[in-house]
Parts: sequence; structure tokens; C-alpha cells
Amino acid sequence: MHNRSMFKKTNQKCFCAFCKNQRRVYRKKHIDWTNVLMSFVSSTFLMIALWQGFQPEIILFFVVLVVASEIMIQVRWRMSLPCPHCGFDPLLYTRKPEEAARRVVNFIENQRETPEYWLKGDPLRQLPRRKKQKTAPPPQLSKRI
Ligand SMILES: [Zn+2]
Repeated sequence: MHNRSMFKKTNQKCFCAFCKNQRRVYRKKHIDWTNVLMSFVSSTFLMIALWQGFQPEIILFFVVLVVASEIMIQVRWRMSLPCPHCGFDPLLYTRKPEEAARRVVNFIENQRETPEYWLKGDPLRQLPRRKKQKTAPPPQLSKRI
């Protein structure tokens, strides 16, 4: 048996709050010590390959590497937020709900124009729909007059 817990799962399954389809999101928002260690190891290897000894410039390279991994992880996390099925972006929704709604409408309109969408069997059919105001039934005449 392999010990799978050694590799922390960076993404997890969740259900979209809007279309209720299952999707994956990245859990990792920031670098951890593994990333710092990896940057350190890469810098050390590069330093040895280039100069065969300690060179202070490598500290700068190490810092750049750490900052770059932090940016990449944040971008990856942010990019994984919008739902791939309906385009709903929960973070944007908390800040600008109108903008989030507009993007979902655009996304769905674009999706419905592609044949792939219909081959998947209309995955957005379970979307919450705006309920139409029921028109009051015409007054009925009592038969007991
Ligand atoms: Zn969705």
C-alpha cells in the first residue's frame, strides 16, 4: 500500500452553488514550506551548476522563485474558482453580484451555442429559474348562486 497522505490533495470536489454540478476547486491559496524547500533546492542546484560554489546572487534568485510560486498558486486558485459548467464565480459574487450574474448569463449563452453543450445533455437544465409571477386565476362564478 502506498501512503497517499504524503501527497496532500491540493484540490477537492465541491458542488457549484449555482448550477449544482460537481466540480473541482483548488484548496491551496498560498505557498507552503514544501514550495519554499523546492525553491531552495532548485536554487542550490542551479548555483552549483553555474558557479560550483556559494554565490550570493543565488539569494535573489531564491526570493524571485518563492515570489513566483506564490503568484502562480494564487492565480491557479483564482482561476479554479469560476464554475466550468455555468461560469458562476463565488468570489466575484460576494463583491459584485450584478457582475457575477452578467458573466453567468454570457457564459450560458455562449455555451448553448456550442454543439458540445448539447452533446453533454444540457448540463444546465437544473439551473434555478426565475419563477414567473402566477397570474391570478379568473374569478370563478359560484355554481351555488
Ligand atoms: Zn456552476
